[in-house]
Amino acid sequence: MAGLSPEKAASIERLAESPCAERLDALFRMDPLKNFLGSQGTSRPEMSMLNLALMWRVMSEVGIWFPSCGVHGLAGRLLDAIRSAGGDVRLSTSVSGIIIDKGAAVGVRTATGDVLAAEWIISSADYKKTILELLPPESVPPEHRERVLLAPYTGSEFCVYLGLDRSAVDWSRWRADHLYFRTPGGWTGDDFEDGEIEACRWSDNFPAAAPPGKCVVILRAPYPYEKAASWRTGEKARAVGYLEFKERLARRMIAAAEAVLPGLSGAIESMEAATPLTYRDWGGRTRGSIAGWAWTAEAAGKLRSRLLIRTPIRGLLAVGIYSATELFLGGVPAALRTAELAAEAVCPPRDQPQM
Ligand SMILES: Cc1cc2nc3c(=O)[nH]c(=O)nc-3n(C[C@H](O)[C@H](O)[C@H](O)COP(=O)(O)OP(=O)(O)OC[C@H]3O[C@@H](n4cnc5c(N)ncnc54)[C@H](O)[C@@H]3O)c2cc1C
Repeated sequence: MAGLSPEKAASIERLAESPCAERLDALFRMDPLKNFLGSQGTSRPEMSMLNLALMWRVMSEVGIWFPSCGVHGLAGRLLDAIRSAGGDVRLSTSVSGIIIDKGAAVGVRTATGDVLAAEWIISSADYKKTILELLPPESVPPEHRERVLLAPYTGSEFCVYLGLDRSAVDWSRWRADHLYFRTPGGWTGDDFEDGEIEACRWSDNFPAAAPPGKCVVILRAPYPYEKAASWRTGEKARAVGYLEFKERLARRMIAAAEAVLPGLSGAIESMEAATPLTYRDWGGRTRGSIAGWAWTAEAAGKLRSRLLIRTPIRGLLAVGIYSATELFLGGVPAALRTAELAAEAVCPPRDQPQM
């Protein structure tokens, strides 16, 4: 909040710590209206007033954007830029630890045992992983470690990716790219804490994702990490029966979605599903969290700063959605902006002093 007057900074802090549900309760009687205004869906409002304001700003002013190069295209362009400037990129190489010397980050160790020295280390692993797993515990100030440990992340989800014969689905209830719906009493008995499902016809924005006459639909719903955890037997390793478990959940979700998309199950030509374990092991996210730090007012204030790019460790910067405590621009744009700020910290524009 650099550059803001003390009054403005204090009022932002107040908004970050006020639950939007209280404000909405005072203004409206109808639950569906309160839920819509407070969650942008059908769920009970949980966000802080600050997050809610940021979300509505993104939805109604900034807009939701789809990169014309596709989501992978963003990473591809960065890769090309680094390589064409002479940089070396080691894909599919995990960092197992950050090396500290005299209190400063001076390099990383990879899972294959290589040691790479650098003047600056910039971590895009999520913040908890960076601070609690990749750094030697004694290098982190205990108070910061404690705060990071206690501050909650957003939860995980179950997600089904479908390749469909487009003409076999009745789309009459579909009005936009996304459809949020809730089946009475939830959709899978006690498997899911929240009955809301989001459906997105992904290929509307990215036609190259499907051949002519076909389309891609993604179905997602919140799913707690704990409910999938027992299937994990190690890094990318699963107990026998995991595939059947995924298939069972996917079929239940599709059956629920069929209430608003008649014909869906008969239109499926290909299907894949992701559980919180997928997001943990393939996405590299702590407990499969999907959308940054928790958005509730109770969670705000657990970490002292809204931006966590400058860590307490000299020479170590954090980037990505977990380096901002509010999704001020949504997910991917917030990740891009934090990376830009980290780049400016390393190579300040000419009119700014060096750190
Ligand atoms: C199902 C789902 C749907 C989403 N939908 C949207 C959406 O529509 N719009 C939106 O803006 N956001 C969306 N998000 C959030 C989106 O994932 C993030 O906004 C975006 O990917 C954040 O980028 P990031 O660089 O912070 O993290 P990531 O994209 O997760 O990148 C972090 C990278 O670090 C790597 N990594 C982790 N640990 C290590 C390690 N030890 N060594 C080496 N590498 C490591 C990971 O493998 C990963 O490649 C969605 C997320 C999920 C899971």
